[in-house]
Amino acid sequence: MNNPNANAANDIAAHFHSFTNLTAHAQTGPLVITRGDGIFVEDDKGNRYLEAMSGLWCASLGFSNERLAKAGSDALYQLPYYHTFTGRSNPAAAALASKLISMAPVPMSKVFFANSGSEANDTAVKLIWYYNNAIGRPEKKKIIGRINAYHGVTVAAASIGGIPVNHRDFDLPIHNIMHVDCPHHFRYAQPGESEEDFATRLADNLEKRILQEGPETVAAFFAEPVMGAGGVIVPPATYFEKVQKVLAKYDVLLVADEVVCGFGRTGEMFGSTTYGMKPDIINTAKALSSGYAPISAVMVNEKIFSAIAENSGNIGTFGHGFTYSGHPVSCAIALETLNIYEEDNILAHVKSLTPQFQKGLRSYEGRKFVGEVRGVGLIGAIELFADPANRVAFDPAAKAGTRVVEIGLEQGIIVRALGDIMVLCPPLIITSEELDDLFERFARTMDIFE
Ligand code: PLP
Repeated sequence: MNNPNANAANDIAAHFHSFTNLTAHAQTGPLVITRGDGIFVEDDKGNRYLEAMSGLWCASLGFSNERLAKAGSDALYQLPYYHTFTGRSNPAAAALASKLISMAPVPMSKVFFANSGSEANDTAVKLIWYYNNAIGRPEKKKIIGRINAYHGVTVAAASIGGIPVNHRDFDLPIHNIMHVDCPHHFRYAQPGESEEDFATRLADNLEKRILQEGPETVAAFFAEPVMGAGGVIVPPATYFEKVQKVLAKYDVLLVADEVVCGFGRTGEMFGSTTYGMKPDIINTAKALSSGYAPISAVMVNEKIFSAIAENSGNIGTFGHGFTYSGHPVSCAIALETLNIYEEDNILAHVKSLTPQFQKGLRSYEGRKFVGEVRGVGLIGAIELFADPANRVAFDPAAKAGTRVVEIGLEQGIIVRALGDIMVLCPPLIITSEELDDLFERFARTMDIFE
């Protein structure tokens, strides 16, 4: 049995939390989740919540999928651990790699496994640097990210991300990593500027930046198809088409960070398909295992892999990898996850629910305190302002977003506040009736603004 008091006391005494106000936590204490059931989770006091964020954008198959539990348990009994150094492998890692290559939205050659989205992005940076060294371009190393992007928290991933709180007081970003415009039309377009013109201006700015840095020094551009933690920023029409023309002109690699978008979130298996991206490297995590086990996958194309492989042949080894790369339990769970997406035709399900989900979101358009509603597939956000017409933000002390989250908990729904941007990203298995339930709970939550 769980003892809520003991949980809270232990947590406050000993647990150093991620992305938390650490001084406030000592007073407020944790929300301790003890079990899950479909799209619902339950805390240690017996309260039940509709999890409208899939945890952290990851539990696409909900919180009680028996096939995934069995795949994990079988794998634990069969082979609880093995590694992938010096050519070692396991059947699940080999099968998962093969499966991912078959699903990739553009031709990919090999899959490198890591344990998190952050590690995938740091790995991609190292592969890009290594690749350019291997082909005799040691000066081509700079990485371009975007303001408001989120790529994780390891040193390179946090540097490529463009969220101030991930840099501030961590001495980031590191050398050779820089940022260009955030493609948020609502926030950054000039008065009267169309999405297409905005996209043209951003692509022009990217080109100017590459020329200013020297194209021979710029290695790669990292982009989430839809920016997640930066506020669910859906790219403006023609953005990736124009950006990719610039990248191709200066031989700059494109890395698609599909950690949130991958595996159906946008209505296609990959966000790259939704937005016509043709990446050289694709990073996935989160829904890869529906969050049931830590795992990420870096897919690289043949051009990059063959250059790296040749160099490793000359040196004698490729010097990168994690103890848990290709972990047999994580790989077995991920493989089962991908099988379920295909067998249950998750894409058809997402496509069929998208109109209902987007309509529910967009019913907040024009409401008091609502500046913009945006989304695609089964991901969306509502951005709140004290005075939307004049784009005046709430006083941070009002903690509008945090307040919505708190009322949400009282109403039995877990939503996320990114500042004053309210995010919904429910498990992809949600049904139409459950979506109605979600929007009813959300409406009762948003009532605080009426
Ligand atoms: N990339 C994106 C787009 C993400 O949203 C995240 C996490 O939210 C990451 C990378 C980092 O993943 P992780 O927290 O598994 O390191």
